[in-house]
Amino acid sequence: MSVEPSPDCPICVRLHDFIAEWRVKEPGWHNGPVPTFLPVEGVQSVKLLIVGLAPGLRGANRTGRPFTGDYAGDLLYNTLNEFGFSRGTFAARPDDGLQLIDAAITNAVRCVPPQNKPVGGEISNCRRFLTPTIEQFVNLRVIVTLGTIAHQSTIRAFNRPVAKFPFSHGGQSDIGNIRIFSSYHCSRYNTNTGRLTTEMFKGVFAEVRAYLDDIAG
Ligand code: URA
Repeated sequence: MSVEPSPDCPICVRLHDFIAEWRVKEPGWHNGPVPTFLPVEGVQSVKLLIVGLAPGLRGANRTGRPFTGDYAGDLLYNTLNEFGFSRGTFAARPDDGLQLIDAAITNAVRCVPPQNKPVGGEISNCRRFLTPTIEQFVNLRVIVTLGTIAHQSTIRAFNRPVAKFPFSHGGQSDIGNIRIFSSYHCSRYNTNTGRLTTEMFKGVFAEVRAYLDDIAG
């Protein structure tokens, strides 16, 4: 099973057509499925996977790297750096040299959706990539899901019922030897409205770091 869609993935017609429009408008942009951001040490080194929603139009869809070039990335990468999950300086560009440490970042839906809102069929379609993406990380111990859609798609990727693993900010649940930590999405909307504060977001990663350190002995 492939972990990445083809560069011109035709599976979701609406998303395919939306991207085709943006290829015409902005030929210099990435404008395609955004691949998982991996550490240079390779998939075997990944203990933490972060699952976002979908590329932002002028963020990941423009730059080709998850959470790169929009507001949500500033908070995410700053937090990863603080808790030792990245090295280098995040400069909101895919060539900024930032490297992940023991961590990978993916999206539940790999293509940019209109209005940042994928529909149910698109989320289900793209799970054919999320599931093998998770499975390839043989040393995975933690998944952080950002928002309800990412959370539910992750639970479904494990073939578990979402009713038994409900989303809540700060929630934790175990599936096999993987612990799932849930957080409100670090979007500008959530931080501007005060639904998610920087402290709340960092609090989740503080718990992830403590958990990983604890199981490492
Ligand atoms: N950028 C991403 O790659 N994913 C999100 O969920 C939001 C912004």
